Amino acid sequence: LRSLYSSVGSLNYVSAGWRNARVDLEHYLELLGRQSEVQEAAEPVRLATRLSSGGAAQVVLKNVAFGYSPKRQILHDISLNAPAGTSVAIVGPTGSGKSTLGRLLTRAYDPTSGEILIDGHDLRDITLHDLREVIGVVPQDTTLFNDSIGRNISYGDLTASEAAMKAAAASAQIDTFIESLPEGYETIVGERGLKLSGGEKQRVAIARVILKDPRILLLDEATSALDTRTEAAIQNELDALSRARTTFTVAHRLSTVQNADQIVVLEEGRIVERGTHVDLLQNDGVYARMWSVQAGESVIQA
Ligand code: ATP
Repeated sequence: LRSLYSSVGSLNYVSAGWRNARVDLEHYLELLGRQSEVQEAAEPVRLATRLSSGGAAQVVLKNVAFGYSPKRQILHDISLNAPAGTSVAIVGPTGSGKSTLGRLLTRAYDPTSGEILIDGHDLRDITLHDLREVIGVVPQDTTLFNDSIGRNISYGDLTASEAAMKAAAASAQIDTFIESLPEGYETIVGERGLKLSGGEKQRVAIARVILKDPRILLLDEATSALDTRTEAAIQNELDALSRARTTFTVAHRLSTVQNADQIVVLEEGRIVERGTHVDLLQNDGVYARMWSVQAGESVIQA
């Protein structure tokens, strides 16, 4: 409980200047609560968290296994190496364990066996604070606090200046939209305010990550919330964000992963294939079959 309160203490940051301490406490506690499955090490190591100060990070998984309950293993013997600055796409059928793997990377849960290392440090040895900071997540469905859209963006870095927040909004290409609102950056969003579309919410998430400047990026690709044009525009912004960072993409569609340095194909919680898009098509295995099915679907839709 003490650690919960000390984390809430960091809310004091928000009271500085224009931001005026209105982060939705309920949601903040809920987010912190999600971290409570895991324990901080007795003498945790610190890690550079920002790309600008630490450069990209290397991420290694060694023989990782995991189950939400001891009776049912979900992931089996997952090993992979993401060299600093490279991209890994995780693909596979529904229920194959893609999102679960993403949850282990953010340490929402610890592996049942095996280890996950950032720059050689086991996730369990890193301070929970640094771990939260070193990985930026663009989720499928972004949580918006019942607060102004400006403060929703600043959530990426509660110490950032208003100018930095606006620059992030511009990079995420949501500035024009925000400036068109009568209340601009002060517009209240969230359940009790203005509802944003799926694409607008994703842009808020992207702006947050730009402010946060993490060394590692985890993208949980949107499935269907976005129309094709918005999706293409957002893909450009995600590509820009991931360029220098070590990036994991949980991908539901294969069209977005063709350029990944490494594509990992999961089936029933095991890696059944890995390689580049070209390698995997040549393999003529699971990935090649998924590719021809999705290519067929897009022809039908066109
Ligand atoms: P999709 O493509 O449908 O999003 P996925 O590949 O991301 O699927 P996961 O969401 O990782 O798959 O789920 C893998 C397995 O773990 C599924 O059988 C699912 O039912 C189970 N599972 C997922 N989340 C939980 C949870 N919180 N508690 C218990 N079981 C879970």
